[in-house]
Amino acid sequence: MSWFKRKIDGITTKSKEKKEIPEGLWYKCPECKNVVTSDEHADTNWVCAKCGYHEKIGSREYFSILFDENEFTEIASNLTSGDPLSFKDTKSYKDRIKTTITKTGLKDAMRVARGKINGLDAVVACMDFAFIGGSMGSVVGAKFAAGVDDAIKNKCAFICISNQVEHV
Ligand SMILES: [Zn+2]
Repeated sequence: MSWFKRKIDGITTKSKEKKEIPEGLWYKCPECKNVVTSDEHADTNWVCAKCGYHEKIGSREYFSILFDENEFTEIASNLTSGDPLSFKDTKSYKDRIKTTITKTGLKDAMRVARGKINGLDAVVACMDFAFIGGSMGSVVGAKFAAGVDDAIKNKCAFICISNQVEHV
């Protein structure tokens, strides 16, 4: 399947055909409407090269920006939320967690990892807004504490990225 299909007698592409472009290959800046490939957008650290708009990013992107060669070891990565209160709003908490894990590929609202930043060891704890709005539960607390303990043990810096508010 070709990405662009043009009529022989014209240079315009019908909007119906534009939708055939696989999603995720292009990024359109919500501020200035500039369109670039997703790879180009990643190359500028998810900041619009035209107007400077900062896209909301998560731990995956922050780790790739901060850690040398994107190499790091995750800390307490196997922790997942329980449901001690059997909480339920419009959906049960258990179901909400399960759906979010599947949708985001994340296990909770924070990831913690140790790697090198410009050759120096550092532990980075990063909130993920994509995980129920960066919902802070017991796992976030446990991971944060495990990251601090690891930084003390390894005598290195501890950085916390407590993103993210909506753009105003
Ligand atoms: Zn822009």
